Amino acid sequence: MDLKAPRGTRDILPVETPAWQYVEQSFSSVCDRFSFQEIRVPTFEQTELFQRGVGDTTDIVQKEMYTFEDKGGRSMTLRPEGTAGVVRAYLENGLSSEPSPQKLYYILNSFRYEKMGKGRYREFNQMGCELFGSEEPTADAEIISLLFLFFRELGLKEINLKINSIGCPKCKPAYLDQLREYLRPQIHELCENCQDRFERNPMRILDCKEDAENEIVKNAPLQLEHLCSECEEHFASLCAELDNLGFQYEIDGHIVRGLDYYSRTVFEFISNNVGTQGTICGGGRYDGLIEELGGLPTPAVGFALGVERLLMELNSQNIVLPSVKGPDIYIVSFPDTINQAAKICFELRNNKIKAENNLNARSFRAQMKYADRIQAKYLVVLGEDELKTEKVSLKRMSDGEEIELDLADLAEYIKNN
Ligand SMILES: [Zn+2]
Ligand SMILES: [Zn+2]
Repeated sequence: MDLKAPRGTRDILPVETPAWQYVEQSFSSVCDRFSFQEIRVPTFEQTELFQRGVGDTTDIVQKEMYTFEDKGGRSMTLRPEGTAGVVRAYLENGLSSEPSPQKLYYILNSFRYEKMGKGRYREFNQMGCELFGSEEPTADAEIISLLFLFFRELGLKEINLKINSIGCPKCKPAYLDQLREYLRPQIHELCENCQDRFERNPMRILDCKEDAENEIVKNAPLQLEHLCSECEEHFASLCAELDNLGFQYEIDGHIVRGLDYYSRTVFEFISNNVGTQGTICGGGRYDGLIEELGGLPTPAVGFALGVERLLMELNSQNIVLPSVKGPDIYIVSFPDTINQAAKICFELRNNKIKAENNLNARSFRAQMKYADRIQAKYLVVLGEDELKTEKVSLKRMSDGEEIELDLADLAEYIKNN
């Protein structure tokens, strides 16, 4: 057999999962303190949800979706991101009539048929938050402060917040016209991607990586300079709120985000770390999305964060993450004590102790070797004598020190040492 994982997917092996669990639990813990509640949504949805909810003009919908026809002839798509499904669930399950704002978070895998690259996968993992039902800048600041706390608790340094406003349906169309006017005579000097985006999504040209140093892009008019008075006031209040919370940030008119549905606030957390420079997390406000998907007009703000990217950053900043931990104790047994060993092992587990015993009918020597390889903290040998006297000798593997104990005190001792 010559079966391999599909291109763009990867196995997360036991040696890595402790770090994943740590990051996910840290995220859940911060979300919980901000009263965000976890939601879990399906891996695939009707294709139309993403066409409407991510946006027909985006690269994701145009080029990157895993779309298939199911056996009933319906067009289905593996989710390319989390927000559209969460909004669909919010509407379908009547969460919109629960107390407002609704604060939801998710940890999920997503699928995009993308060009492969360092840290880029076609199945990847995201964590994100959605706050539905508040248009106040304090809601934007709440989302951002959650991220500040999360990164702080992980011990991340060298990351900067950049914020921008990309306007609303009132001020955006006129600005986009102006941007197109400015770009039209010189668009052929920009990259192929930019030419492709000129008609359908010209704002994306502002954050083109390839043309970032091009004077045409650098000197382009920015939405930030053409906001309506409401958007201007919203953005000023957000900045004031971030100042109030004591957060450092930079205003950057070239931050635009890729999805169609963003309005007003957009932000990115960016790493300055050599070797892993770039965006760690992006988010913003999308006041039009819920209505677009069939709900009443409901303001919304949120973010998504790639777990693979985050782990890469933690590693490159030399932050020590939890690794595989061996059992607290390994019980060595003999053919005539193996059943008693299994019973004691179960009792220890019942006492919340991580215990292992001989599952392979291994010899005495092989068991000693195995206990060492799996990095057991303690080892105990259970022979006829030990069972008769109900006393054991507990050996600490790190230094070989042995202590005599009553069998009955074993659990208590391990718990306290
Ligand atoms: Zn506006
Ligand atoms: Zn370009």
